[in-house]
Amino acid sequence: MKFEDSCDLIIIGGGLAGCEAAWQAANRNLKVKLFEMRPSLMTDAHETGNLAELVCSNSLGSNLIDRASGLLKEELRICGSLLLNAAEKSKIPAGNALAVDRNSFSRFVESELANHPNIEIIREEVKIIPEQIPVILASGPLTSKDLSENIQSITGKENLFFYDAIAPIITYDSINFETAYKGSRYGRGNAAEGDYINCPFSKQDYYDFVEALRTAERIALHSFEDEIDQGVNAGKESYFEGCLPVEVLATRNPESLAFGPMRPVGLIDPRTNKRPYAVIQLRQDNLAGSLYNIVGFQTNLKQQEQNRVFRMIPGLESAIFERYGQMHRNTYISSPGLINESLQLINNERIFFAGQLSGVEGYVGNIASGLAVGINAAAYIYQQPFVIFPQTTMIGSLLHYIANAEKKHFQPMKANFGILPVLEDPANSKQDRAQQYAARSIKDISSLTQSPYFNTFFQAI
Ligand SMILES: Cc1cc2nc3c(=O)[nH]c(=O)nc-3n(C[C@H](O)[C@H](O)[C@H](O)COP(=O)(O)OP(=O)(O)OC[C@H]3O[C@@H](n4cnc5c(N)ncnc54)[C@H](O)[C@@H]3O)c2cc1C
Repeated sequence: MKFEDSCDLIIIGGGLAGCEAAWQAANRNLKVKLFEMRPSLMTDAHETGNLAELVCSNSLGSNLIDRASGLLKEELRICGSLLLNAAEKSKIPAGNALAVDRNSFSRFVESELANHPNIEIIREEVKIIPEQIPVILASGPLTSKDLSENIQSITGKENLFFYDAIAPIITYDSINFETAYKGSRYGRGNAAEGDYINCPFSKQDYYDFVEALRTAERIALHSFEDEIDQGVNAGKESYFEGCLPVEVLATRNPESLAFGPMRPVGLIDPRTNKRPYAVIQLRQDNLAGSLYNIVGFQTNLKQQEQNRVFRMIPGLESAIFERYGQMHRNTYISSPGLINESLQLINNERIFFAGQLSGVEGYVGNIASGLAVGINAAAYIYQQPFVIFPQTTMIGSLLHYIANAEKKHFQPMKANFGILPVLEDPANSKQDRAQQYAARSIKDISSLTQSPYFNTFFQAI
């Protein structure tokens, strides 16, 4: 392990949070060592040795500032996020969403970090948290086993885990366009034909499909339980509610899918001029447009069952699966009371957490946590006050939430308007209130970034 050479800050994990943190800290004139264990030690979900690999969807969510995820992106743009810039440089058509070519995205990030004079990238697993030197733990939901155990030894039994699932990817050429049709919800996005491919269901197709999903064979979860710790969720099927496998949704209520990932609103079938009973959408997954993912269809069905059941989808009768859906582990600490809003461990101020491991959920939230921790690790090292992101901003609210939420039922939190402080004079319509939230946040984050307090170390380069 190359800790002995001098550096100011060690970052463990070259994922979304770790890469953003490295960039922010290095731009504040700190010498940073960024450790990434791939490709020599892979996780169950990553497929490459690339830094900042997007493990599942290639979409970073909405770009509209009156959506929580869109507002968070705007804040990141204002704060000078490297990864948001990378996403814009590698974006592909996806209506109002910011979707990227995942390889171009990673290449951009890696090249910027590798060429930064203050950053050294070391391809090595870190098993034990280094002593003496300030460190950011950004090893993500799939933190290696040894490091997980070491983290547990400093955080105690509050280190939790739960299950998440990823959606299948199929080839474009295997889609039957006699049935499937292109189009975005309410005709948004690319005006000519829309950015999504839609597979329409009749009522009978829908109920047959739901029944097949409910009864299909799933992969047993026991191996995860044995492998991982004996956290509070051991032995239970503990899923993150925002990313439930479709077969679990189908089992809860036969109509859940029609009101969830298969909702047909705004998706008129041009062949019948009617709204189908339900619709499955496919979203472009690579720049070449040869791969499409099934939107919202994370699953833990056995592979042969995915072949059988997902080929019941109208238009996907001959689908070729480039990647099957799968369940995955998701490691995170029980942040409330353990870390503060600057993501610093309360009982050891030299140690910071970021990303999914710190209890933030979603690609953009994880990038945001990396940005905040990179800035505040610099403040700590320079012995300056922390930069406090106003709670009226999405970044500030997320950080506030994970540090102060109710500990007992804590689960990672995604950007959403519900965590922002109430408006002083809220408009009647939801749409107008979202605009009010956005205006307030943009004003507050802009004044933060213009303050000398935010820029001091930046100018020290
Ligand atoms: C399978 C899966 C699918 C997901 N799908 C989505 C999605 O579609 N949309 C979404 O918004 N969010 C999704 N998430 C949640 C989350 O947004 C992503 O996991 C995101 O990449 C987390 O960012 P991160 O920086 O915390 O971790 P990561 O991006 O995973 O980065 C952590 C890095 O640390 C490395 N590492 C681990 N242990 C060590 C060690 N001991 N030493 C050195 N390096 C180490 C890993 O190899 C990895 O590169 C998904 C999560 C998983 C696990």
